[in-house]
Amino acid sequence: MSEALNRDYRVSEELGKGRFGVVFKAYLSNSGEPFAVKSIDKRLIADDSVDRQCLYNEAKVMQLLSPNPHVLRIFHVYEDECFLHIVLELCNGSDLYQRIAARTVFSEAEANVVMRPLMEAIAHCHHLGIVHRDIKPDNVLFNDWNELKLADFGSAEFIDDGQLISGVVGTPYYVAPEVVAGRHYDEKVDVWSAGVILYIMLAGFPPFYGDSAPEIFEAVLRANVRFPTRVFNSLSPEVKDLLRRMLSKDVIRRFSAEQVLGHPWMAGEGGGEIRPVAVEEARPVAVIS
Ligand code: AMP
Repeated sequence: MSEALNRDYRVSEELGKGRFGVVFKAYLSNSGEPFAVKSIDKRLIADDSVDRQCLYNEAKVMQLLSPNPHVLRIFHVYEDECFLHIVLELCNGSDLYQRIAARTVFSEAEANVVMRPLMEAIAHCHHLGIVHRDIKPDNVLFNDWNELKLADFGSAEFIDDGQLISGVVGTPYYVAPEVVAGRHYDEKVDVWSAGVILYIMLAGFPPFYGDSAPEIFEAVLRANVRFPTRVFNSLSPEVKDLLRRMLSKDVIRRFSAEQVLGHPWMAGEGGGEIRPVAVEEARPVAVIS
């Protein structure tokens, strides 16, 4: 642990392990306020320039995006010879992946409560010319007050107005068809991924699936969104309309984050009603990370 970090914070128990390091709970020494500290052993990433780039990118992007009520806040970065420590807002309230796995399906009203702050966070990124590129339930955290925080900006990329970017980045179920096809793409890849999350919350299964990553990619490339009546019959026409617009293979016709926020369903018109969940609908969700 870095001396400077230990001077300012009292580092406590481990909260979890990630690809790049360990996340600890830590308390600010002078106030006792709790935080999360992501500690990365730089020696473990010394030989991998992509991993190194991811880490420094994450801290830089988060600093640009903070503060926003729906983006995980970064407070401090400490670096010494061996470690990089990133002090983050504490999110003890589980992530959306855990909530989806535990809940089987969400009512429209419950999905609406998740989608509004998520799309506000994504719109905030896009306004600042940042594409997240790995929107998925594991990267959507909740704090003790159940407030949603978008996290994990390790794959994020900067984009200028009208410019396109490239690179196959993302997670099979959530990745947009233009990314899988190896084409250049823009910030609308995040809207596609958020559309997949909305579909999974309502249906209990992903819109594009297969038994292996290549099979999932084939389904994503076909981009054929189906609304099986057994699940979608009881859902509002507004939410199906929104799903079609978010999961449009045609990027020009696909909604922007701002357009999603302006859709009637997001305003609560289609999401106000709590849909009872039938027992036979209760299926576990298979999500590949
Ligand atoms: P990551 O390296 O971001 O994948 O994080 C690894 C694990 O640490 C996660 O699965 C969480 O259990 C935990 N974690 C990460 N960030 C936070 C946070 N801000 N607050 C609480 N726990 C966190």
